[in-house]
Amino acid sequence: MMVAMDSKSKNIDLIILGAGAGGLTAAAVAATEGLKVLVLEKAAQVGGTTAISGGMIWAPNNHLANSPDSLEKAETYLDAAVPTDAGRSQRHTFLELSVVI
Ligand SMILES: Cc1cc2nc3c(=O)[nH]c(=O)nc-3n(C[C@H](O)[C@H](O)[C@H](O)COP(=O)(O)OP(=O)(O)OC[C@H]3O[C@@H](n4cnc5c(N)ncnc54)[C@H](O)[C@@H]3O)c2cc1C
Repeated sequence: MMVAMDSKSKNIDLIILGAGAGGLTAAAVAATEGLKVLVLEKAAQVGGTTAISGGMIWAPNNHLANSPDSLEKAETYLDAAVPTDAGRSQRHTFLELSVVI
């Protein structure tokens, strides 16, 4: 699909390629911060893989869950799901920082 761009379209602060969760989240945050955003999507519809995903969010070790959890349990699960040492320190940092308040 071709979209005509008027002269106002030149005043763009941020161009985002792809209208999935990542792109649209970045666009929404940038627009909230006052930037003029242009999202370019190559497919005929927006959504990408996100549109067909389960939409589940894994938030380990949070106080809202109805079962006991811990950072160590979450790390054990991730180590089993990703059986390689590559990225281990990043996984650990992710778990440490993904604390639900
Ligand atoms: C069946 C299924 C179930 C899933 N369930 C879950 C779940 O429950 N929980 C979870 O956390 N994750 C789940 N996932 C994974 C999750 O959906 C993806 O990790 C996530 O949607 C990726 O988001 P994204 O924004 O990075 O990519 P996408 O949503 O794929 O968006 C990328 C967009 O960029 C566009 N694009 C690509 N190249 C260009 C270009 N050159 N120019 C312009 N546009 C371009 C694409 O057309 C697409 O629209 C699931 C995935 C599948 C397939």
